[in-house]
Amino acid sequence: MKEYISKIEKLVKHAKQISITSHKNPDGDAIGSSLSLYLFLKKIHPQVRVILPNEYPDFLKWLPQQEEILFFTKHNKEAINYIDQSDLIFSLDYNDLSRTGDMQTSLENANADFIMIDHHQQPASYAQICISQPEIGSTCELVYEVLENWNRELINQSIATCIYTGIMTDSGSFRFPSTTSRTHQIIGHLIDLGVNNAEIHQNTFDTNSYNRLQLLGVALSNLKFIEEHHTAYITLSQKELDQHNFKKGDTEGFVNYGLSLKNVDFAVIFIENKEEGIIKISFRSKGDFDVNQYARKYFSGGGHKNAAGGRSELSLKDTVQKFLATLPKEK
Ligand code: 5GP
Ligand code: MN
Repeated sequence: MKEYISKIEKLVKHAKQISITSHKNPDGDAIGSSLSLYLFLKKIHPQVRVILPNEYPDFLKWLPQQEEILFFTKHNKEAINYIDQSDLIFSLDYNDLSRTGDMQTSLENANADFIMIDHHQQPASYAQICISQPEIGSTCELVYEVLENWNRELINQSIATCIYTGIMTDSGSFRFPSTTSRTHQIIGHLIDLGVNNAEIHQNTFDTNSYNRLQLLGVALSNLKFIEEHHTAYITLSQKELDQHNFKKGDTEGFVNYGLSLKNVDFAVIFIENKEEGIIKISFRSKGDFDVNQYARKYFSGGGHKNAAGGRSELSLKDTVQKFLATLPKEK
């Protein structure tokens, strides 16, 4: 880590303007890593902003200084100009510019150095500095290591809160196998810095709307269990989403119910998105079954070994048929 820090420090020192970016449909780790780095850099650099491709779910809208984020969708001109004039861009929680949706062209055209800090597999090669560690559970954990090595004294309660949130959401509240003793040491330090851990869990998870719980009921009654392939899957049609006044983030975590079934090590959720004309798919697994490879092979996606995403342009029914046809070979 130390060898990266002196290089990063040099680039930051010489940069006139810095953009911190993350992936489309940002999650807790994307936002937590972006905001924590932002709050840190603001202390040592006058010209830095977080720019995200699009909005994120309401359940994360309590994070410190989140109102200072620029959204490429909502603040389009301002975001384009800011990226255009940046000579240093951080890529956090993604490793391929195609993950940034409509922001991709702006980033490709930018006359800037890139610093990638990420934990997904198979990084693309656009970054001058590439901290890519797929074995680490979250980008926030990597950002912590960077900031701690850089200047531990500058990590305050707000920065710690953002980092805590990303580690918590990407580790399934410290349950997934990527959670190590180091992860818990970091969490310990963050709590020592004044992070209110119980409040963060409540802010993030105790925010169900009645509609979301009703939609979960629909998802659970649509759940299918394919015993011979140790696989479970859920479908949600646009109609079902509409009936429960679906809002961004409402289906977050639904796929894990499939994975909680006894003898299931592969769970999938198919969510119809009529506006984009696609089926958005989330894959989760336990143990050796590699959903990153699976998503890349069949559904134009990717991610991690045990958590990945993908998409299909077929109908919901045909997408499920395609998926079912892969099971005898893959599982
Ligand atoms: P989710 O199912 O929560 O959308 O995504 C699970 C994981 O896979 C996340 O780490 C996410 O960044 C990654 N992921 C989701 N969709 C895609 C995709 O289309 N391509 C790639 N490479 N990764 C994805
Ligand atoms: Mn992540």
